[in-house]
Amino acid sequence: MKRGYASFLPCAFSVALALSFLPDGRAQTPSEPAPAIGAALAQLRKAPRDPLLLARLRAALAAAPARDDQTALGLAVFALGSLWLERVADAEAARQALLRRFPDTAEARTLEDWDGLFRPCGWCHGTGIRGGEICARCNGTGKCPVCGGAGRVALMGRRQAPCSACNGSGKCSACGGKGREEGPCPRCGGTGRVPLPERAFRLYRAVLKAEVE
Ligand SMILES: [Zn+2]
Ligand SMILES: [Zn+2]
Ligand SMILES: [Zn+2]
Repeated sequence: MKRGYASFLPCAFSVALALSFLPDGRAQTPSEPAPAIGAALAQLRKAPRDPLLLARLRAALAAAPARDDQTALGLAVFALGSLWLERVADAEAARQALLRRFPDTAEARTLEDWDGLFRPCGWCHGTGIRGGEICARCNGTGKCPVCGGAGRVALMGRRQAPCSACNGSGKCSACGGKGREEGPCPRCGGTGRVPLPERAFRLYRAVLKAEVE
């Protein structure tokens, strides 16, 4: 049985995060007042490896008025910092927000080589699909357990009828005859690629340090 993407936590997560980057900043309920984006960036410049400071930057971005002049830089920094931490959904949401709201800016151009910050996922060899457990319904045979793969079942006497469990195909209906349950790769969330943390960190720190005016 193929699992839907919605059942995957990282994806459900990314929807919530995309919402928190709405331009008007609703969907944000900070437990403490969010710092200004400039203040959050200043803290990060002193301690770029502190994930809590990246979280404060996100709070600042979500709470910022639409025209805060540090928003574009904040989004670029947050996208790269999140990629360094391998929080890909966060990173993609911030990048999308940056490209949508601030296209053709120096900040957007800092993410030009975004694809170069990833490598193919080794778990699924870049396919995004990973063969999972052996199918419990057919024990890995791929055959319909009701008709044994014949596609027909015996009725009274010598009569036969198409197997209703497999619609006459003879294939296990749970795994489609593959014998294994396939699903999105858990390592890359089905995207087929994973970040290069060191490369992401170098760009993150470079963008953070540059005073983009
Ligand atoms: Zn099966
Ligand atoms: Zn059958
Ligand atoms: Zn993968």
